[in-house]
Amino acid sequence: MKEKFVLEYSEQVVNEPIIYTLVKRFDVMVNILRAEISPGREGSMLVEIESDPERLAAAEAYLAERSVRLIPIAQSLGFRQDDCINCGACTAVCFSGCLTIGAPDWTLQVDRSKCIACGLCVPACPLGLFTLRFGA
Ligand code: SF4
Ligand code: SF4
Repeated sequence: MKEKFVLEYSEQVVNEPIIYTLVKRFDVMVNILRAEISPGREGSMLVEIESDPERLAAAEAYLAERSVRLIPIAQSLGFRQDDCINCGACTAVCFSGCLTIGAPDWTLQVDRSKCIACGLCVPACPLGLFTLRFGA
């Protein structure tokens, strides 16, 4: 299975070879899509991980031990749906198909499984209803 995650690093482990260890010790494939990490500071990374559930669970346990948070991409997108006025502005910038609007009711539909954490919806919403843990 292949899934996207946000890795959040504490400043204590930002210099450790976390990705190398995941690949070498736990035999999971890690594709780094984006990274914002500075030596001596907290950082975050958007990654795609290919593994089976057992190896992923072992890798997760290792990351937890090293104080690295592994957040499924669907959980990294915050959205205040109750305040949405269904203007559709966010759907114009969301090319992943996560945000759609259309007939018959013209209300915004959010399919978090399609989110790629690009962050474009954050500035696009006039009401500031989106937040993202990474990239915005
Ligand atoms: S972060 Fe990108 S992919 Fe995710 S909902 Fe916003 S615009 Fe769509
Ligand atoms: S841009 Fe904001 S208010 Fe407009 S449909 Fe998207 S979430 Fe709702």
